[in-house]
Amino acid sequence: MPTIFSRIISGEIPCYKIAEDENYFAFLDINPLAKGHTLVIPKQETDYIFDLDDHTLSGMMVFAKKVALAIEKCVPCKRIGIAVIGLEVPHAHIHLVPLQSVHDINFTNPKLQLSKEEMDALAKQIAAQA
Ligand code: AMP
Repeated sequence: MPTIFSRIISGEIPCYKIAEDENYFAFLDINPLAKGHTLVIPKQETDYIFDLDDHTLSGMMVFAKKVALAIEKCVPCKRIGIAVIGLEVPHAHIHLVPLQSVHDINFTNPKLQLSKEEMDALAKQIAAQA
């Protein structure tokens, strides 16, 4: 059974897409800690990020860098924070979170409620820079 993220990659489940290449995919987190909170995933379906082979793992970081720089151009922030949790979805992913302070990357914070229109516009804006 494919993971929810594989179903997003295949287009079976909709997402607010940011970027894609042959091996990686990025889309907005639907429960964002901050405006522009994005997930970067490998297309290869592996649960634990540190089970990825070195090539896939390092390529994922390079892809995440490109996405982070695009987010920075669209969302006012001091920098983009990066986190790996992976306790909810068993498909390796990196969280990219725009930060004004360290508190913005506290995963116990209440999540933002953004409208579909806001998410859509934000994704398009970031995608245009990626
Ligand atoms: P974790 O596995 O603990 O890193 O958390 C999984 C993250 O994936 C959470 O921040 C969720 O909000 C996010 N998430 C789960 N389902 C979706 C989805 N369909 N689209 C976008 N983000 C999702």
